[in-house]
Formats: sequence, C-alpha cells, structure tokens
Amino acid sequence: RAKREGRGRVRFFESEMDRELRDRRLLLHDLRQAVEQNELLVYFQPQARMNGEIIGFEALVRWNHPTRGIVPPDQFIPLAEENGLIIQIGEWVLREACREAASWPRPLQVAVNLSPVQFQAGDLERSIHQILLETGLAPTRLEVEITEGVLIGDFARALNLLRRLKALGIRIAMDDFGTGYSSLSYLQSFPFDKIKIDRSFISNLEATPESAEIVRAVLSLAHALHMPVVAEGVETEAQRAFLEREACEEMQGYLIGRPEPIEHYFDLIGINVERRRYA
Ligand code: C2E
Ligand code: MG
Ligand code: MG
Ligand code: MG
Repeated sequence: RAKREGRGRVRFFESEMDRELRDRRLLLHDLRQAVEQNELLVYFQPQARMNGEIIGFEALVRWNHPTRGIVPPDQFIPLAEENGLIIQIGEWVLREACREAASWPRPLQVAVNLSPVQFQAGDLERSIHQILLETGLAPTRLEVEITEGVLIGDFARALNLLRRLKALGIRIAMDDFGTGYSSLSYLQSFPFDKIKIDRSFISNLEATPESAEIVRAVLSLAHALHMPVVAEGVETEAQRAFLEREACEEMQGYLIGRPEPIEHYFDLIGINVERRRYA
C-alpha cells in the first residue's frame, strides 16, 4: 500500500501482512525469553460438583509480559505450538501444577491441558511419569485435558499414549466437546473419564433453545457411554440450575470462580496463609 504525500513523494506503508509477520517475530522472540526468564505463570480455576462443592482446579497458563502485561494463552499457545516451544512450556505447566497440588492439605484433583504437539513429539509418558515422581503427586489426582486435535493425525500413537497414561492412574478428559468436526466418533474410540461441554453451548443456554437441546443430547450420550460431564463456562445461577436438573455432574466457570493465582484460593483449599508464606 502506498500513499501519495506532499511534494509528489510516495511513501510506502507496511502492509497489514508485514505488520502481522513482524509482530509474530517479536512475540516469538519474547516468548523464547519468557520461558527462560520465568515470565510464565499458572493460574488455577476451581471445578465443582453441581452443589458447589470444590473437587479440584484446572491449571491455566498465563504470560506475564514485561510491557504487555498478562497475556492470555490464546495469544501465545498457537505460536508456541508452531515452533515446538510448547513442549517446554507444557512440561513446565505440568510440573508447576503437580508441585502446587502436592502441597495442598486436601487431596483435590488438578487438571492440566495438553497440546496435540506434546503427543506427537517428545516422550510425554516419560516426562509425566518423571514429574509425578519428582513432585510426589498421586497419579490419581492428576487429570489431563485433551482436545480432539490430539486424535487427529497419528491416531494410533495418540490412542496408545492415552491408554498408557490411563494405566498410570491418570484421568483423561475430553475438552471443548462439541466444537470439533468429529467429536462424536472419538467417543467410541476411547473411554474418557470426563467430557467437558464447550463453553459456547453453556453461554447460549438462555438465548438459544437449540443450545439447551444440544446440552441435553451431549449429557444423554455421555451418560449412555458412562462418562461424567463437566460444563464449562457456567456464569449464572440459571445455567447451573438447568445443568443440575439435566443431571450434569460437574461445572466450572465464573459462577464458582475465575482463574486466579493459587493464593486467591488458599482459604478454600484450607491452606494457612501465614504458615505457608514463612515455611
Ligand atoms: P480451556 O482448556 O477450554 O480452558 C477454559 C477457558 O475458559 C479458560 O480460558 C478459562 O479462563 C475460560 N473460562 C472458564 N470459565 C469461564 C466463564 O465462566 N466465562 C468465560 N467467558 N470464560 C471462562 P483461558 O485461561 O484463556 O485458556 C484458553 C485456552 O488456552 C484453554 O481452553 C486451553 O485450550 C488453552 N490453555 C490454557 N493453558 C494451557 C496450557 O497450559 N497448555 C495448553 N496446551 N493449552 C492451554
Ligand atoms: Mg481445559
Ligand atoms: Mg475447554
Ligand atoms: Mg478451549
């Protein structure tokens, strides 16, 4: 794109594509540094039964960028996946989450998201096993969340890995259920311990009657296959009440609590703040 200026000069402006490319290069440079300089954080969001009883937390990564502030994962995970940095980041999140959970006075569960890239490259089973040994967290307290992206590609390899993780005692949850192209067919290929209905269906519960029907259908399908369901993105009491009536087992969302640094939930976990801080 060029723009004609004053004395007949033509100035060229960066095209939008150039700018995007440059931004990405900058971000990638920063991200590499972030991993080395400990700028990543793990936030924790509570997961509860329909009566509000807390059963655990999902670990959600954040990037505390020196100038941009807290950057959400959607803005850097895809980039990290493209260049393999996600392997390192994923391991770090897993270690942080397990270490944190191992220190809680109650045996609450901790859920960690795994990227498809972590299934394709590296030795995921070995690194998870190593982290469990290192942190002392019981495998039965760890849940890994995968999306159908994990099963696209080398399906046999992914399935094999999931089976081995399950054999260690780790639970496997299918995340963002209903948003993919072939979610349904994956349900028959692996006995997931949990199905997480995507937030988009929950947030539309009141506005679109179709969403309510989809949620009902997912619940009935999952239950027929003996898989409990977690509703994501529950924000209102009306949504919670609907889900409870429809026999949904668990929920997660702003109604119960936002993703926060773990200190925010110390009371809830039963951690004595003073003792922990000065231990
Ligand atoms: P997800 O695993 O489906 O995580 C749930 C997302 O929904 C989180 O966004 C959470 O903050 C948001 N959420 C939860 N309850 C509510 C609600 O009531 N209302 C609304 N509006 N949003 C809610 P977040 O933390 O930005 O993470 C986005 C995605 O990034 C995650 O989706 C997950 O796919 C990915 N992600 C996060 N941490 C990691 C990680 O450590 N590794 C990998 N591979 N992916 C991660
Ligand atoms: Mg998740
Ligand atoms: Mg999700
Ligand atoms: Mg998601």
